[in-house]
Amino acid sequence: MSNREEQLAKMKAEIGGLSESPLYDYRVENGYEVVIGEGNPQASILFIGEAPGKREAESGRPFVGASGKMLDTMLEHIGLARGDVYITNVVKDRPPENRDPTQAEIDLYTPFLTRQIDLIQPKVIATLGRFAMDYVFELFDMAEQGQKISNMHGQTLQAQASYGSVAVVPLYHPAVALYNAGQRDPLMSDFEALKAFI
Ligand code: URA
Repeated sequence: MSNREEQLAKMKAEIGGLSESPLYDYRVENGYEVVIGEGNPQASILFIGEAPGKREAESGRPFVGASGKMLDTMLEHIGLARGDVYITNVVKDRPPENRDPTQAEIDLYTPFLTRQIDLIQPKVIATLGRFAMDYVFELFDMAEQGQKISNMHGQTLQAQASYGSVAVVPLYHPAVALYNAGQRDPLMSDFEALKAFI
């Protein structure tokens, strides 16, 4: 295991013992796993989604359900495989019935996300959906804070991370293209912004 992989495994274990989390009992009762993330921890592209769904919590892997298939299609469109990138979420435990994460949950889990960003040191962070976008804008104290995803999607923004400069590409969550087939092509063309970093 590389040092980064070891650190990520340690983080997963830490979250495993996070009994103060409102999602802890739900995880334990259902035999779910913490979903820390997956992929290449040396990757230059980091994807951040919202929170694990049922399939993800059962398998301990991010984006393995229907949204994950859509994400795979988008990655393939720009010539990437999962092993070329690192994929994680804002919240690492499944919220019941896939409801939106609460602010308390976001506050509890994002220090782990921040540690992941500092560890992986990506050149570009692609946010999937508004929760990840809002968090990254706030983390880097970006001028775009408070903007709607409908104004920001597909743009390449610049930010200053602890380890140097980083690009931020806000993307719609892949689930939007599941609910609305008309969103599939715009999502694909937004993903093309990432080609500059391959
Ligand atoms: N949706 C997300 O935001 N993350 C996952 O891991 C799966 C679905």
